Amino acid sequence: MQIIRTVSELRRWSREQRASGKIIGLVPTMGALHAGHASLIRAAHKECNAVAVSIFVNPTQFGPNEDFSRYPRTFDADCALAEKEGAEVIFAPGVEEIYPAGAATFVEVEGLSDRLDGASRPGHFRGVATVVAKLLIAADPDRAYFGQKDAAQVAVLRRMVADLRLGTEIVVCPIVRDTDGLALSSRNVYLSTAERQQALVLSRSIRTVESLYAQGERNSAKLLAAVKEVFSTEPEIRIDYIEIVDWATLLPVETAMPGTLFAVAAVVGSTRLIDNTVLR
Ligand code: AMP
Repeated sequence: MQIIRTVSELRRWSREQRASGKIIGLVPTMGALHAGHASLIRAAHKECNAVAVSIFVNPTQFGPNEDFSRYPRTFDADCALAEKEGAEVIFAPGVEEIYPAGAATFVEVEGLSDRLDGASRPGHFRGVATVVAKLLIAADPDRAYFGQKDAAQVAVLRRMVADLRLGTEIVVCPIVRDTDGLALSSRNVYLSTAERQQALVLSRSIRTVESLYAQGERNSAKLLAAVKEVFSTEPEIRIDYIEIVDWATLLPVETAMPGTLFAVAAVVGSTRLIDNTVLR
């Protein structure tokens, strides 16, 4: 496995792969890789024959009081995991490689960027869209792999790829959970034992909505009321949002239907966690 540090080398690698007829897959990450990331790399390896994993803790998607400086960084373990799952390249640029001195160009997906996580994390999706656009332009992959875990991010990136007419197909992989139901996240390491227990209310709320929906409940207000009741069992948790939305527009819907997104975000201790389900 090759470690690439510059955009020009990544571009050269991609051009060589394409010239030799290979299908290129890209898995963008911020590192601290876990089984959720592994599932993305595995999916890419299955469907593509040249897979690059990017590892870049992107400063522009963190707010001023967020965890950029303490975000977990586990580069050697990440390389081992990526290689094991079939990655051929790790793209691990420095900040100045992605944002050259004086960088003044950003990608803004209007509207969508202010919804769900974007509402409580101003500028977050501008940072995400900008870095992913840079990665897609440099690597020019046939397919790029993202987790449904970050469902609002998926909506923003699908819109961006369509609007910029980028030639990459966005592939969305299911949420990987721990055995207790907690969605895997690089931020779970911040949780104390007690907080981890409290955090299970997120996945409990997901299962509540799924089972009410399976029983035929379609009224969003009623589904949301049931979820609030579930959250009331953990009064120490601060709810950031609980929403039932159209997955493409991220706007609330009154009536849930197949493809509707139920998404939650909550702060447990000082850790912000998200979870969701797409109703089927
Ligand atoms: P991150 O490193 O947190 O930026 O995540 C990189 C990619 O991995 C994103 O597309 C995430 O949605 C995805 N991801 C993170 N956690 C999970 C999970 N538990 N299951 C599936 N995909 C995930």
